[in-house]
Amino acid sequence: MAKYRDPVCKLCRREGEKLFLKGERCFTPKCAFDRRGYAPGQHGKSSQFSRRRVSDYNRQLRAKQKARRVYGILEKQFRRYHGESLKRRGLTGLNLLQILETRLDNVIYRLGYASSRAEARLLVTHGHFMVNGRRTDIPSMILGAGDTLQVREEARTRPYFKDLSAVAEERNPAPWLDRELKTLSGTVLRLPERSEIDGNLQEQLIVEYYSR
Ligand code: SF4
Repeated sequence: MAKYRDPVCKLCRREGEKLFLKGERCFTPKCAFDRRGYAPGQHGKSSQFSRRRVSDYNRQLRAKQKARRVYGILEKQFRRYHGESLKRRGLTGLNLLQILETRLDNVIYRLGYASSRAEARLLVTHGHFMVNGRRTDIPSMILGAGDTLQVREEARTRPYFKDLSAVAEERNPAPWLDRELKTLSGTVLRLPERSEIDGNLQEQLIVEYYSR
């Protein structure tokens, strides 16, 4: 499985805003963006103050890159999701965001069982979750309304999961999900509405980028 391996804090600095890719650390003074809030590289500091006119293409590209980075997806798969969103009925941009939101790793993150999508992905690849009663290690699995997930019985004795219900209680689950802390499980009630998807994403620009 292809994977982004460079420091993720650089991605926040490149996008010029906090993307909250590292969970709890993002809320501490250790956050790299809070300490060096300019683009990485030799000319990062000076490029931030340049008065260069930003082209439409550049805005579309940046919107697409940002969404990709927020959800931790590589280009090939992101393009595939765009193709899938075209096939669905309704607004392509919203369809795309709904596909991204209903990925298994994102659902675990939105339920509060992980502090970041990267952490959720790791938990899934280690086989700690079941979807609809079956063990899975595929973080990109797309869930639909009525699908349920649960931490496996065997995994609950692990230190991470022992305290998870108390930790997760501090985090609010997304309104389109139902969470059962006692059993460390969750259900997708429905697809999220646009207003329930945060992250300041500009899906229209992403659609324009792929329509060029
Ligand atoms: Fe981004 Fe989090 Fe790194 Fe800060 S700590 S730069 S928010 S990934």
